[in-house]
Amino acid sequence: MKREDLINELQEIVGIKGVIVDPSELVVYETDGLSVFKHTPDLVVFPRSADEVVAVIKTLRRYKMPIVPRGVGTGLSGGALAERGGAVVATTKMNKILEVDIRNRCALVEAGVVNIHITNAVKQRGYHFAPDPSSQVVSTIGGNIAENAGGPHTLKYGVTTNHILGVEVVLDNGEAVWLGGKTEETIGYDLRGVFIGSEGTFGIVTKAWVKLTRNPQSYKTMRVSFASVDDAAKTVSDIIASGIIPAAAEFVDFVALKALEEAFKLKLPEGTKALLVIELDGLEVALDRQAEKVIEICRKNNAIEILLARNEQERTQLWFARKRAFGALGRLTPSYLTQDGMVPRSKLPEMMQFIYQVAEKHGLRIANIFHAGDGNLHPCILFDERKPEEIKRALEASADILKQCVEVGGSVTGEHGIGLEKRAFLSFMFTEDELSVMRKIKSVFDPEEVFNPGKIFPESGEFVEPQIVGKRRPAAM
Ligand SMILES: Cc1cc2nc3c(=O)[nH]c(=O)nc-3n(C[C@H](O)[C@H](O)[C@H](O)COP(=O)(O)OP(=O)(O)OC[C@H]3O[C@@H](n4cnc5c(N)ncnc54)[C@H](O)[C@@H]3O)c2cc1C
Repeated sequence: MKREDLINELQEIVGIKGVIVDPSELVVYETDGLSVFKHTPDLVVFPRSADEVVAVIKTLRRYKMPIVPRGVGTGLSGGALAERGGAVVATTKMNKILEVDIRNRCALVEAGVVNIHITNAVKQRGYHFAPDPSSQVVSTIGGNIAENAGGPHTLKYGVTTNHILGVEVVLDNGEAVWLGGKTEETIGYDLRGVFIGSEGTFGIVTKAWVKLTRNPQSYKTMRVSFASVDDAAKTVSDIIASGIIPAAAEFVDFVALKALEEAFKLKLPEGTKALLVIELDGLEVALDRQAEKVIEICRKNNAIEILLARNEQERTQLWFARKRAFGALGRLTPSYLTQDGMVPRSKLPEMMQFIYQVAEKHGLRIANIFHAGDGNLHPCILFDERKPEEIKRALEASADILKQCVEVGGSVTGEHGIGLEKRAFLSFMFTEDELSVMRKIKSVFDPEEVFNPGKIFPESGEFVEPQIVGKRRPAAM
C-alpha cells in the first residue's frame, strides 16, 4: 500500500489541511514538554469529530500504522511522541463544549477542549472544573484524562479521575464505545477508571462527561516565607497532621526563587530559602479558625513572613510566585528537565535534602516547585541541552531521585505519567509478574499494540538506562 494513497484517504476524511506530511511542519510534533526525546512522526492528522476519529483509525489500521494520540503536547514524559514512527492523531480541532447541565453539575466536552475553557464556560454560574494542572491554560481534557492529571488544588479535590463521569473512546478496531456515562455509578467493571491514566495506550478519548464543582464560598490564601527548606517542608506535613486539608499547599525553593527574583524582582524578606502558598477554601465561618491554626503552625516552624490575602487581587498576587516559577527558570538555564515523583508527606524534609545532595554529586542545579500537600515533587534539573554530557548527568540525577522516592515509600511518578521517559524506572517499583498483569490489561484493549506502541513498559523487567535522543524506526507500511 502506498503512502500517497494513505494521505489521500485521510484527506478525504479530514480535509486537505487536516493532514500534515511536510517534514518542516512535522518537526513541531517531534517532541513534547519534556523536550529531551525527539521522534518525528510520519504524518499528523487532525480529525474534527468523533466520527472522523473512527474513520481515521479504521484507515490507519488498514495501513498498519502505529497510532499516537496527542492533545497539545505539554506532556512531560514523552507520551505523545511517535517513537516507532506512524501517525499522530491530534485532537485540537475537537474543541467544542457540547452541553452544560448545571442542574446535574456536569458537562459534555470534546477531547480537544482546553482544561480552563470548561471553567471559563461555567464560572459565571458559580461552578468550575476542579482538576487544575499548571498547564491548564493550554492542555486538553483528553491529555488530562490520559495522564490522570493533578494540580495545585487536587490536594483537596482529587485528580482528574475523580471528576470524570464517562469517556467516549475509539478502540483499535475503530469502534466508538462509552465507558461510564452521565451518571455517577455504572454497573460492571469500572472500565472508565481503568482507561483514565492509561496514557493513550488503550485508545483515543473523543468525548467526556466531566463533573462541575461548585465554587467555594470563600478563600483564605497565604504566602509564607521560611529561612530553611526543612522548616517549610515540615510545616506542610504538620498542617495536614493537624486535621486541616488545605485546598492547596505549594512549594517554591531558593533555586526557583533566585529565578523569580531575577525575572520579577519579588520583594521577599532577606534570607528567604523557601516559600509556601497555602490556600484554604470553604464556608467563610469555618475559615478564620482554620487560618489561625495554619498561621500558628507556620510560626511554630519559624516562618519569617506570613502574608494573608484580603481580596481577590491580593490572592492573585500571592499566587504569582508559584504560577510564574516554571517560566522564570529560563533566567537560569537554557533547558530543564521537570521530574515528577511522589513521597509520603512526612518524608519531604529528608527528600529535599537528598535532592540537593544529588545536585551536588552531579554538579548540577536543581530547582524545586511542587505540590507539597500531595508529597508530589517536581525537581527541575537545570542543564544545557547543547552539552550532551550535561544531558547525561541530568538523566543520572533523575534516576537517583526517583530511586530514592521509591526507597522512602513513594512512586516514580505523581502526575506526568510513564510515557517513554520513565518506562525504564518501572522495574524500581514492580516485579515482572506485576508488570505482566498490566501488559495483559493492555492486550485486552489493544492486542496488536497499535496505540502508543512501546510506551509505559520496559522491554524486559530489567532496568535499562534511558536513551537521550531516540532513533526513529520507520513505520511498517
Ligand atoms: C508548564 C507545565 C506545567 C504542567 N503542570 C502539570 C500539573 O500541574 N499537573 C499535571 O498533571 N501535569 C502537568 N503538566 C503535564 C501536562 O500538561 C499534562 O500531562 C497534560 O494532561 C497533558 O495534556 P496535553 O493535551 O498536552 O497532552 P499531550 O502532551 O498531547 O499528551 C499526553 C499523553 O496523553 C495522550 N493523549 C492525549 N490526548 C489523548 C486522547 N484524546 N486520547 C487518548 N490519549 C491521549 C498522549 O498519547 C500522551 O501519552 C505540565 C506541563 C507543563 C509544560
